[in-house]
Amino acid sequence: MALFPTYNRFNVAVQQAEGTIVEDVNGKKYLDFGSGIGVTNLGHRHPTVQKAVEQQLNAYWHTSNLYANPIQEDVAKKITDNSVGDFVFFSNSGAEANEAAIKLARKATGKEKVITFHQSFHGRTFATMAATGQEKVRTGFGPMLEKFAYATFNDIDSVKEVLDDQTAAIMVEVVQGEGGVNPADQSFLDDIVRLCEANDILLIIDEIQTGIGRTGKKFGYEHYGIEPDIFTLAKGLGNGVPVGAMVAKQELGEHFGPGTHGSTFGGNPIAMAAAKAVTSVVFADAFLLEVEEKGAYLADLLEEHIAPIHKVKAIRQKGLMVGIEYDEAVGSLVTTLIAKGMLTLSAGENVLRLLPPLTVTKAELDQGVQFIKETMKL
Ligand SMILES: *Cc1c(COP(=O)(O)O)cnc(C)c1O
Repeated sequence: MALFPTYNRFNVAVQQAEGTIVEDVNGKKYLDFGSGIGVTNLGHRHPTVQKAVEQQLNAYWHTSNLYANPIQEDVAKKITDNSVGDFVFFSNSGAEANEAAIKLARKATGKEKVITFHQSFHGRTFATMAATGQEKVRTGFGPMLEKFAYATFNDIDSVKEVLDDQTAAIMVEVVQGEGGVNPADQSFLDDIVRLCEANDILLIIDEIQTGIGRTGKKFGYEHYGIEPDIFTLAKGLGNGVPVGAMVAKQELGEHFGPGTHGSTFGGNPIAMAAAKAVTSVVFADAFLLEVEEKGAYLADLLEEHIAPIHKVKAIRQKGLMVGIEYDEAVGSLVTTLIAKGMLTLSAGENVLRLLPPLTVTKAELDQGVQFIKETMKL
């Protein structure tokens, strides 16, 4: 096989997918409770998104960012009308969105240091790898981009220890995704906001996994009543078409003037058509209410069927983002679930992570929890 072995792949090759159901090349069907990795939040080939992309394919595929781009403007307006942000830069991935955020924070403040957290995940490029507070992501790649400092999640004193007058930004996930589905405490984020205000530090919230309805709100920060200066999106924004976005407040706009940053493909019309459709579906109040309701339904199911299993140590959840902490490695659970006909994710060694599509039905939630229960009891 001529692919770099960068991924430890499971033995599933998808041929067709619709909604929550994925079918492999042998015709075997799976309940998809990973949504890729939190990407196909509206289910596979959501009809509204599919139609929008098909229409765009029949119109045009590319123009450079040197020409006016009405679809980009539409999606940016959709995002800013529904968030605390005022300006959007489009990229092709989450890491690129975070790169843009880090560049903007340094340029706007004239300061250098960015504080991030242990067990965070922000991407695989040089800046975002340095931002990621996990040693295993950085091993072997030589000197990291400088001026990142790591504090302990949910421990404000550890933030104060690394904060100094050269600190440009604090970058945080409101629910750490890859790090084990760890929600931030309200008081921790309140204290971070206070520290940022007192020290002229920008608050960057990485919403790449938590954004676009995943937690039952448009963006995860809404749960906490806080306002980031910058936040980043990717994963669910295109429902499977690659796209990322860096969103910032009004006063930061002037610092990303002509020639300061760019991307050939960023904001390409096919991705924008997908993102426009996704945001029009997800940002409807009735849709988000349903997500919250399904989140509560899933919480009840987990409480009844999974929490009593003796190897289950904790269940952490916000909306349809779930981590089940197990008292041993979950790798074999994931493999057994695949054999049963269900796709799930891990987060670290010991956490089984569920990111079902926001369009999942209650019957599918019942079935999924049943599969997990049977598997954990094996
Ligand atoms: C997935 C993820 C990223 C990286 O996104 P890519 O599109 O893989 O570059 C960054 N931050 C968080 C929180 C993520 O979940």
